[in-house]
Amino acid sequence: MDKIEHIGIAVKDLETSNKLFAGLFGTPHYKVEEVASEGVKTSFFKSGPNKIELLEATNPDSPIAKFIDKKGEGIHHIAFAVTDIVSEITRLKGEGFIVLNETPKKGADNKLVAFLHPKSTNGVLIELCQEID
Ligand code: ZN
Repeated sequence: MDKIEHIGIAVKDLETSNKLFAGLFGTPHYKVEEVASEGVKTSFFKSGPNKIELLEATNPDSPIAKFIDKKGEGIHHIAFAVTDIVSEITRLKGEGFIVLNETPKKGADNKLVAFLHPKSTNGVLIELCQEID
């Protein structure tokens, strides 16, 4: 596993939070992307070398809606860059982690992604992401 690629934050209202985080970082978001299959709308910020992804639910069955219902707004996941997501999935399964996506799927920001169940990672949802080139 490589560096932290981004941190995902669940928000109730993307427009309001875009303004808030633009003020925090001193720079506006550089991209908005909807991932219909996940029921989320995302926006991305850069602050120095760091990337932050804001996630808003687009329907009540969205994992983000369920997360906010349960825990409220806040940090939703930590994403790590990997160079070979398929072999990382195999390795992590071998280590006993619960991989939610046996086959990586297309995520936001031109990435192949897979998630590890928080139950197997001390309550933290971990995203693996590999750049699609
Ligand atoms: Zn993410």
